[in-house]
Formats: sequence, C-alpha cells, structure tokens
Amino acid sequence: MTAWNFQGRDVLKPATLQAAAEIGVETLAPSGFPRALLAAGFLLYAVAAGAAWWLALKLIPAELSLTLLGKTLHTASVHDHLNNVFLVFLLLPTALGIEAAIVGWEQSSLRQLIFARTPSLNTDLTVFILGQGHVLDIVGRVMMLGVSMISGVWIHDAIAGATGVRLGPPPLPFVLQLPLYFAIYSFFDYWTHRTDHTKFFWPLHRYHHSAEDFGVVTSVRQHPATFTAIFIVNLPLAVLGAPADVMIYVNVLVVAIGFLVHSKIDADWGFVGRWLIQSPNHHRAHHKLDMSRPTGHFAIAPIWDRLFGTWYEDRPDPKLVIGVDTPYHHGFLVPRDMARDYYHFWIGWFGGKSDGPNAARFLEKR
Ligand SMILES: [Zn+2]
Ligand SMILES: [Zn+2]
Repeated sequence: MTAWNFQGRDVLKPATLQAAAEIGVETLAPSGFPRALLAAGFLLYAVAAGAAWWLALKLIPAELSLTLLGKTLHTASVHDHLNNVFLVFLLLPTALGIEAAIVGWEQSSLRQLIFARTPSLNTDLTVFILGQGHVLDIVGRVMMLGVSMISGVWIHDAIAGATGVRLGPPPLPFVLQLPLYFAIYSFFDYWTHRTDHTKFFWPLHRYHHSAEDFGVVTSVRQHPATFTAIFIVNLPLAVLGAPADVMIYVNVLVVAIGFLVHSKIDADWGFVGRWLIQSPNHHRAHHKLDMSRPTGHFAIAPIWDRLFGTWYEDRPDPKLVIGVDTPYHHGFLVPRDMARDYYHFWIGWFGGKSDGPNAARFLEKR
C-alpha cells in the first residue's frame, strides 16, 4: 500500500491499483497475433458451440430419471442446466472474441486473462468459476437467510387463485414480446441498480465496483448476497407471468450486454449507446473511482437514465480510472473481501461505518 492523493485527501492506494497500471497490457505478450485469424477462430467456435447446443437440446430429454443404489433421482430441469452451460460456453467466448477482434490481441481481455492477470482479474475469474460450480449460489442462499427461495411463480399463482386474474404476456408475436420484456427487465434492473447505490446496499454492490480493471468476466464479479436483484428483478417478472422462452432470450441479451460493457472496447455506440443499449464507455463512467461528482449511467437501456435524471452528456472517457477507495485484497482468495462486505452490509443498517479508505477498521463510527 502506498499513500496517494484522492479528492484532496491522502489515502491508502490499494497495491493492486498500482500493479494494474504498472503491469499494463504489454508484459508477457506473445506478439504479432493476427487479428483476422482470431476473429475467424472465434466465429468458427461460436458456430460449432451453437450447433452442439441445438443438438444437445434435440437429443437429450427434458426430464431424466436415474436409479442409483435403489433410489430414483428425478430431474425435470435438464434443459435449464444445459442452457446455462451453453450460455457461458457460447456467450463468453463470443464476447471475448468480439472484443479481441475490435481492440486487437495485445489489448484483449483474453490475453490479459491468460498471460497478464492482475489481482483484480484473478478475483473476477475466481467468482466466475465459483459461480459456474454453483458454490456462490449456495453461499448466497445462506447469506440471504433463504429469502432468495421465495418464488415469484408461487405469488403469480396465488394472485390468480385469489382474484381469478392470471397475469400474463399481452397477445403479441414473439418478436415484439422480446423488446417489450427487455424494456420491462431493464426498467426493474435500473431500479435495482439505483437501490444498490444507496448506503444500505452499497457494501454488497461495492464488491462489483471494486474491480480496478475491466476484462469481460468482470461482469460476473458480484457479491453472492444479491438481495435487491431478487426483489426488484426476478420476483416482479415472474409475478407478471413473463413467458419462460422469452425470458431465456432476454437473459441471453442481458448477459451479452453485461460482458460487452465490461470489455476493453473503446466505444460509445453513437445513437444506440445514447438511447437503447448501454455502451462500454458509459459503463466505465458508471464505475468511476472519483466520487466527487454524482454517479450516473445505471441502466443497461439508457432511456431509463434519461427519464429518471441519471444521464450525463459529457463524453465518457475510455481511460477513466475505475474502482472504489475502500481497500480490497483481490486475488484468488475471495471469501475475505466477500465476508467483510457482508459484515459491512449489516453494520450499515445499524449506523456503523462501512465505506471509504479506512473501512478496513470495521467498527469505526462515522
Ligand atoms: Zn453500480
Ligand atoms: Zn459494472
């Protein structure tokens, strides 16, 4: 840790912030990788993975029964698991490929993830792996004291039973339902995200903002106790009776946008980035370290930022320093920071200090 000046104060600069800047993207680089080859390779991969996905869904039954040691195990969600696996194996490499094709191999997240990982990227990678192994799922359920088990479908059915009104999608063709539910999803997501930035939920969301470097997978760097997402996104959509197949496609879109806005692509996407879908540069502006001005750009669909007053017109800077001034350990050992942030979340509700460069000293009062 070294002292540095932040907002006119001398604060401790996290060692990793320095390391990320110093390591840069030049070190350990296998040089001269042709961009076109990379793009072609990924295109081929995406086509092959897509074909495998389609085949697997065709060949594998949606329900499986397995008799093991005299007990019959039954699962009706085989396709859900398959979709999840392919989302990751198809969308993540595609996002990494698109980014590498645009920014070049030298600057790409893929090269950095393989050859020049910073402690911040090690955290992203660890969270990603633990997420795929459902470890964070289980930890999150415990941390949220089981509230994540509340079922929106159950509430939907209960409303139907009590009132006779079964909420459901309007009679629209599929192609129109997709933008409609994307708009509804992004609206709820916008308010989730704004709630995440209130002092009561910030310590949990701060875990995402603690990233000091963007690298596509930074998108999945989320604290396992995501209270706000459950109450503000998942529940309302299920209660509204969102059709499952439409939600799968909305989900694909949301995950893809998530990967791209956390990429190293220097783009504001013109009209699209100003109105329809958030651009990487606007998301970087949201992650800014300097909190002397209000934070904006919460929505994956900028229209909500414009409607609700969190849109800023100034040109987003692709070199903007990102992160938080609360110290983080980063690296492969993620439980330490996660547990500290979870603790900060609870002490925050009881008036305890939980943010800023001295937040490592847990019980210090404001
Ligand atoms: Zn945020
Ligand atoms: Zn982000």
